[in-house]
Amino acid sequence: MFVITQSCCSDAACVSVCPVNCIHPTPEERGFGSSDILHIDPEACIDCGACADACPVDAIYPADKLGTRDKVFIDINADFYKHNTDITSGWKQVEYPEIPKLPAGLRVALVGTGPSGGYALRMILDRTEADVTVVDKLPTPGGLVRAGVAPDHPGTKGVLRGFDLLYRDPRVTMATNVEVGTGPGQITPAELAEHFDAVFYAVGASESRRLGIPGEDLPGSTSATELVAWYNAVPGVEAPPLVNDGTGRAVIVGTGNVALDVARILVSPPEMLAATDIADRALRILEQQNVHEVVLLGRRDQANAAYTSAEYRALSTIPGVEVVVHDDPSGELPDLGGPADPTNRRIVFLFHSSPEEIIGGEHVDGVAVRTGGVRHTISADLMVRSIGYRSTPIGGLPFDHDRGVFPNVEGRMLDEGGQIVPGAYVLGWAKRGPSGGIGANKICAEATVEDFIRDAADGRLTRTARTAREFTTLLRKRSRHVIGYRGVRAIDASERRRGVLQGRPRVKYTEVSEMVGAAGRRRR
Ligand code: NAP
Repeated sequence: MFVITQSCCSDAACVSVCPVNCIHPTPEERGFGSSDILHIDPEACIDCGACADACPVDAIYPADKLGTRDKVFIDINADFYKHNTDITSGWKQVEYPEIPKLPAGLRVALVGTGPSGGYALRMILDRTEADVTVVDKLPTPGGLVRAGVAPDHPGTKGVLRGFDLLYRDPRVTMATNVEVGTGPGQITPAELAEHFDAVFYAVGASESRRLGIPGEDLPGSTSATELVAWYNAVPGVEAPPLVNDGTGRAVIVGTGNVALDVARILVSPPEMLAATDIADRALRILEQQNVHEVVLLGRRDQANAAYTSAEYRALSTIPGVEVVVHDDPSGELPDLGGPADPTNRRIVFLFHSSPEEIIGGEHVDGVAVRTGGVRHTISADLMVRSIGYRSTPIGGLPFDHDRGVFPNVEGRMLDEGGQIVPGAYVLGWAKRGPSGGIGANKICAEATVEDFIRDAADGRLTRTARTAREFTTLLRKRSRHVIGYRGVRAIDASERRRGVLQGRPRVKYTEVSEMVGAAGRRRR
């Protein structure tokens, strides 16, 4: 019997190769996109191992080969079938999609190299003969896989290996360190529209939502977006003001998987983090800081917590960390005195609780919290809001400021007047908002590429009169530091070499100038 473990990216590559349809939920089934991992039906698995071979993130193992920390996933896989008795496995028939005839010589641009960009690129290459120019504002590709996936979840990042193979396709041209917008040195959306037959915006959501309560901007109050970007080495992000002589308590608002990631990183033993690709700058500070208790505030009850079960259950496997759940609507608080064993650290879930005010003078001292109708003050040095993401507007493109996404109808971009902009598409979190793990972006990106194929087949694209060479000339005119695929590989190799010296998978660069230097003369 095979078992799916934590690093599952839910992109369903395993579902399509399983001959007995024993991996669920499938993209057509309820719960796909909101379940963070897929599950193998232990009763139906025929042990063929096709799923393990197809998995892009090495998440699937025979049950008898699981390590101690992963054994919990045997039950997690089986429990899915106990709770979803309507889902059945069985031999299946394969259906192949029809491919319409498309005009010759299509040239498209893809902005963003995160999961939705990667999955869209795969489908464009598989289903069309179009040439694709891939641009990203950072020198390094990967989007939220590099900048968002927690450092202690290295398997999940394996999805980038599959995307990397796509960048080597002769039909793909890569140009990183290229920002789209209307600022100095940037390529404008109008220029992209002029130089390509279609443009896909897969630009993700890299800003945080705000709580709108007093004290939110005090030093010591930050967003998960900032904190995650800091420990994942995103260039230009400031260190959060962690203190090592305070209460040793951090409060996190929200109970989504991002909140759990942040809680885990704050309390994980430093020696565990030291074996990951966490940013050097974060490792140094996390080793010194003294957070021994993280309190997560959930405004509803535990049954409505936003985390997924696999992430929650995996918390109990961190060595030296106690997990406490307080799901009491009466307004009573549990004892927040730290872990029972003082050598441990503790994660406390406080449900029925919303923050009302962040208290402090020059720095956060505590958070006023309403729990079940009663106001309490929880002393804390760090307050992190983890209440969801928003896309960052791009100069020259319409933006829905209320929803924090680019206005679109199922991926076809809309102008300010609500009309479809021919040849402009939006994918992933920038299209539908910040929900779903990596695999949810596959289904989302594929649906939009399908719409593009129909638009191209039906003559709804405005064909460009420009050539690939003209776009290269425009890029060179705009910036001296455009990085091509060889440069991207050189940065990757350099980070890995730095990692070897420290016994880590890689040591990431944290400055764009360092990355440009590492790309070296192979930049183009
Ligand atoms: P999320 O799952 O939407 O969770 C947001 C949390 O913030 C919820 O607990 C929500 O509570 C709370 N919240 C929102 N507004 C609030 C307010 N004004 N006051 C108090 N609480 C508020 O978002 P996320 O954690 O940022 O994750 C985004 C997506 O990425 C999710 O689909 C997640 O599963 C995925 N992800 C997956 C992994 C993984 O698979 N390992 C890791 C990271 C992220 P309510 O539920 O009451 O609204």
